[in-house]
Amino acid sequence: MRIVDGAKTIISLLRDLNSMSRDEKVDFYQSKCDYYQGIVELGLVVSALVTLCFIYSDYMINGTVRHTLLPRLSILFFIVIFYIVTHFWSHNSRVMVVMDFFLGHGMVIAASWTAYNLVDRSNSIEGIIIVNLIWLVVGFVATPMDSVINGIVFIIEIIITNIFNQYTNYDLIMALEVPIIIGIMFVEYVMTAYYLDHYRVTQKLELAMVTDPLTQVYNRHLLEKIISKNAIKDVKTGEHIAVALIDIDDFKKINDENGHYTGDLTLLYMGQKLSKETHDDDYVIRYGGEEFVVILRNCDVNNACARMEQFRLDIVNAKDTPVPFTISVGVSCYTGDYSKTLQNVDNALYKAKNTGKNKVVVM
Ligand code: GH3
Ligand code: MG
Ligand code: MG
Repeated sequence: MRIVDGAKTIISLLRDLNSMSRDEKVDFYQSKCDYYQGIVELGLVVSALVTLCFIYSDYMINGTVRHTLLPRLSILFFIVIFYIVTHFWSHNSRVMVVMDFFLGHGMVIAASWTAYNLVDRSNSIEGIIIVNLIWLVVGFVATPMDSVINGIVFIIEIIITNIFNQYTNYDLIMALEVPIIIGIMFVEYVMTAYYLDHYRVTQKLELAMVTDPLTQVYNRHLLEKIISKNAIKDVKTGEHIAVALIDIDDFKKINDENGHYTGDLTLLYMGQKLSKETHDDDYVIRYGGEEFVVILRNCDVNNACARMEQFRLDIVNAKDTPVPFTISVGVSCYTGDYSKTLQNVDNALYKAKNTGKNKVVVM
């Protein structure tokens, strides 16, 4: 049954959501906000501007707009504040969500102020129920907990504004509003779970884009992500970084003598061994055919040479390789200039190749 399948999908997505670490949740909600904020903002600002058209219905009720013009125009103040704050904090999903709710409540305040100045408030109930559409829209970027808090705030807002406005249908408003808020919270939980599906697919695609299908290490696309303006991103102050360029010796001969399949298995072996023998925060990148770049984090050049020398010996002594082979390695410290560093490791590798291969050279 479709409804049972839907419920099962939601339950498994909610389990996934609950099992996320704190950092992962922050990233998830940031991604949800980045994805939907544009459309949410458009919906909110258009809705806020549309409330200005209600000046005409105010005229129909009061026979004049003298008392309701200022309350209606006050929404422009909320729009201006919304744009000033979101201009400076556009990359912070927490601020964006708070400001979305701020604009929503701006509409509630402007409408309550207007209602205070109307001679007949019997239509307030429709206005209050319609506001729930705004909360539904903000739910696209908010967390389910935000919606719970917002629901409580909205109920309190109705209670407070009733002190001034004495809504004709106050009991009915409450009787309708409470189940609507509960319904909205449920829908927003479901929407969040569905976004998780999209988030996981995007994560898989992004990983596939930077992964070399043969060796399962990173490919060159990773460089676009970790290097900006010719510098490695996220380098801590004082952190030593070394770069190594590894090339399999006489790989063409391996292909020619044993076939391309064995050549492929040799590349796979290299990728796996490099992944095993490097640290989690190092980057292993298949740079070209049988060339690998390794970015060694928290590692000075001497340490990098020692580690690469050990790796070279491990390959020489390995008994589980598809065919026996050797490697040449160029090593250099990262100077802050990525292309210059790469030029240094390239020169070092060139020297290793020209002085007998199967060695590590530092530049
Ligand atoms: P050197 O010791 O100077 O590095 O010589 P080499 O033979 O290793 O280097 P060369 O550049 O002459 O040859 C590299 C070979 O790698 C040529 C190419 O066919 C092969 N190759 C590149 N990509 C792949 C691949 O994905 N699979 C296989 N099997 N071979 C590949
Ligand atoms: Mg080679
Ligand atoms: Mg090569």
